[in-house]
Parts: sequence; structure tokens; C-alpha cells
Amino acid sequence: MTGEPRMWIGGEWVGAGSGKTLTVVNPSTEEALGGVPLAGEADVDRAVAAACRAFPAWSRTPQAERSRKLMQFAVRIREQADEIARLECLEHGTPLADAKHIVMWAAEIVEYTASAARALMGSHVPTRPGVVAYLQRVPVGVCALITPWNVPFIMMAVKLAPALATGNTCVMKPPSINSLTGLAFARLVAELDLPPGTVNVVTGPGSSIGHRLASHPDVDLVGFTGSTETGRSIMAAASSTIKKLVMELGGKNPFILLEDADVDEAVRVLVGRQYNNSGQHCSGVGRYYVHERVYDEFLEKFVAASSAVVVGDPLDPRTTMGPVVSAEHRAHIERLVESAIAEGARLVLGGRRPTQPPLDRGYYVMPTVIADVTQQMTIAREEVFGPVACIMKFRDHDDIVAMANDTRYGLCAGFFTRDVSRALRLAGEIRTGSVFVNTHMLTPEMPWGGGVKQSGLGKEGSIAGMEEFTELKLVCIEVGAGQ
Ligand code: NAD
Repeated sequence: MTGEPRMWIGGEWVGAGSGKTLTVVNPSTEEALGGVPLAGEADVDRAVAAACRAFPAWSRTPQAERSRKLMQFAVRIREQADEIARLECLEHGTPLADAKHIVMWAAEIVEYTASAARALMGSHVPTRPGVVAYLQRVPVGVCALITPWNVPFIMMAVKLAPALATGNTCVMKPPSINSLTGLAFARLVAELDLPPGTVNVVTGPGSSIGHRLASHPDVDLVGFTGSTETGRSIMAAASSTIKKLVMELGGKNPFILLEDADVDEAVRVLVGRQYNNSGQHCSGVGRYYVHERVYDEFLEKFVAASSAVVVGDPLDPRTTMGPVVSAEHRAHIERLVESAIAEGARLVLGGRRPTQPPLDRGYYVMPTVIADVTQQMTIAREEVFGPVACIMKFRDHDDIVAMANDTRYGLCAGFFTRDVSRALRLAGEIRTGSVFVNTHMLTPEMPWGGGVKQSGLGKEGSIAGMEEFTELKLVCIEVGAGQ
């Protein structure tokens, strides 16, 4: 597609009604990468109307056919993986090998969802002889799917697949700074030859078009991933029409190393997680609580492993960490690092921008380790969402779960210990949606998400995540006493 940038509405490629465009920037060079339509409320209304028109036919399309379309989608994602990965690399700053992995993971999520949807069942309700009552899973209706920039392609796939598989129609709004990836996603959707309006993709700022989607009277569900602050604003906007909400929000995830932890293994797992995607993962470790008996050893090994991270041009195959996504986000990270030092924490590594060319351009933040962080420091309470490890020492086991739970978030947590029965007890006490012991991993079969405190509502991924896009409808039939 060349010429004026276009988005996908009602089965057609269209420009924004205003004719305006939005410029997307390459975070590793700070240069303009391209333009996307700057949609306004009228464009959103057009997309929602198209999704409403498409709903009756798509919701009645047999499950096997809906799943087949998703399988085709997964095939196209795999076929186009190199191209999409390159775009994610240019637009988001993801190192190329990681970007390819991300695209393949998105394909896997779509494949899993297409298969699992065929096994989704309702249930029989026991009543009395002569009555047949059952619960049927039905689609919710028109879904607004609003996604964040941190892993843009996966975030779109993990929402679209369950929504479509279960018979909903959708209007997707990718993050404005990663809209080119959003439109690449839309091009693959367009190839599926779905009934016009089944999936629509609009591009533009969240504060205007995202808000319009969240408050639109004809939108039945908002599937949102992003910050807790935006989630709160979406909830308020959606309340006027009592929409169903599925929300994956922020986190400040505690990972706890007990005194019997395998320190080498913990460092291997956690350093991999800390700097992947420049630390811009909702599942990343927000707080490391390390028992005093292994604190010095952990810190030394963690810093050594962090120093080995290769920061550079995401297109260079040697690079293991690229820039963060924007100047604004880098400023947020730097503010939190400065606050930690001002409040008495110890900067052990990084904490600065690279100054040597070519990395003096681009939104780079060096791998950063801050030790001796304490519970009340700003950096221990606010989400950094960057390549910054906040390490805290603890002595008293009785307090550790209370300290870990002392946050407004409840996304995930982890323990490193060789004592399985202790891990089971602690896993029961921690108030988070997921708990990892001696690992940190996710597969499409695992339900993800908070649903706990201010980290969200509902689950994403797995059968549980798919069920969020359905309602349970009771059908009760009097068939006669003889039955
Ligand atoms: P964000 O909240 O700024 O934006 C997310 C999306 O919402 C974007 O598409 C944005 O344009 C849109 N938006 C912004 N204001 C809006 C409004 N008023 N109404 C409707 N839509 C609006 O989040 P972000 O900065 O893109 O992503 C980072 C955040 O996402 C972090 O807080 C991170 O923890 C969270 N996150 C959570 C998960 C999870 O699974 N829980 C996963 C990834 C990211």
C-alpha cells in the first residue's frame, strides 16, 4: 500500500475524515518513520457502525469456520514474520531476534485460541423433570480493543483472537506511537476476507478516539491493556452505558529470593526478564526482595550479568537491548532513578544515557541496578517499566509477604527457594493474579492478568481469557412432564 496512509474500516482502506496524519518516530534514531491516519470521533463512529452491521452474521458463523479463519491468520503471521519483526524493530526498538520471537508467539496465541474455541462448551442446568435448561456461551457484541505499545503486535493478537473466535466483531485501536505495526496487523486481517466490518482498525490518540470507543453507546465490551490511570478513565467513560470491561493494567511485581535460593539460576532467569524489551513488560520484576544471607552474592552476580547486556541498534544482530519506546517514557524512567538516589538508594550500575555515537541519538537507557531500595521510596511504589532493577534487602521472613503485598497492584509475584512446601504457603499468601516459583514464564495455555487490586479486571489468554468475550445465556424449556 502506498500513498496517503489508510486504516481499515468497514472492509475498506480509508483515510481519516479530517485528512490529517500522525507521524510515527523510530526510537533508535529519533527520525520520522512514517505517517498514519489521525482518526477522529467521526471515524470511530463509522468503525463502530460497521462492526454493529457485521455482528449478526459473524456471531452466527459456525465455530469451525471462525476458527478456520483464525488459523489462516496465524499462517499469514508466520509467513510475514520477517517483515513484521523488522517493522516492530524500527518502530518499537525491539532487537530483531526478539521481535521475530514476538511475532511467532503471536501466531502461537492465535493458533491456540482457534483450536481451544472449538472446545468451548456451555452446561446443563439441573432443574426438574419436564424442563431442559442450559447455559450457552454467546458473544458479547461489538468489542473495542485498545492496546498498549509495550509489545504491540502480541497485544493486538491476544485480544483479537478470542474476541473473533467467540463471534464478536471488533474495533481495534493500537497505541498511537506504534500505529504502523497496528496497520501491518490490519493488512493481515484484511487478507482474511471476513465479512466487511467484522474487524476494523483505527489509528490515533487514546485521549480522543480511545475515549470515544470507551464511551460509545454501541460498544458492548472494552478489552484494554495499559496503565492503571488510563484504565480508570476508561472505566469512568464506560460506566454510562454499563459496558463489560476486561482490563490488564499496571504492576509492581515483587520477586523474593529466600536464603536457600539457587542464586545463579535466579540471576539467569531474572536478568533475562529484566532487560528483555528494555524492561517494558507488565510481567517484569518491579521489586527484588533478597534475603540478607544471599544479598551480596545476588547483587554482585546480577550486576555482572547486567553489564553483559549489549545495548545498541536493534537491527544489529549483536544487540540484546534497544532503546525504550519514546523520549517521554525515557524521561519518566530517569525521573524515578533520580528520585531513588535522592531518597537514599545506591546506584550500582547505569542510571545514565549512553553518550557515545551512534547511541547519543535514540531513547536509550543503560541497564541500571539500584541497591538498598527501601519500601517507602518512590521507586519501590511506582511502576518504572524500563531496564531498571530495584533491589531491596530483607531479614525477617514474617514480614516479607506483607511487604510484597504492600502495593496497589496485584499482577504477579515470584519466589526463588528450594523449599517447595514453603513456596506453596507463600504462594497462597501473596495477593496477585499469578505466582511463579523458581521460574518466570508464560504460555498461551496460562491465563494471565491481575483481576487483583488495581492491576485489572478479568483474565487474558487461555480458555479463561476467551470466556471473558462471552456471556452465559440461560435457555429454559418446558418440554412436558413425560420427558
Ligand atoms: P497507556 O495506558 O498510556 O495506553 C494504552 C492504550 O490506551 C493506548 O492505545 C492509548 O492510546 C490508549 N489510551 C490512552 N488514553 C486513553 C483514554 N483516555 N481512553 C481510552 N484509551 C486511551 O499505556 P501504555 O503506556 O501504552 O502501556 C504501558 C502500561 O501498560 C504500563 O502501565 C503496563 O503495566 C501496562 N501493561 C499491562 C499489561 C498487563 O497485562 N497487565 C500488559 C502490557 C502493558
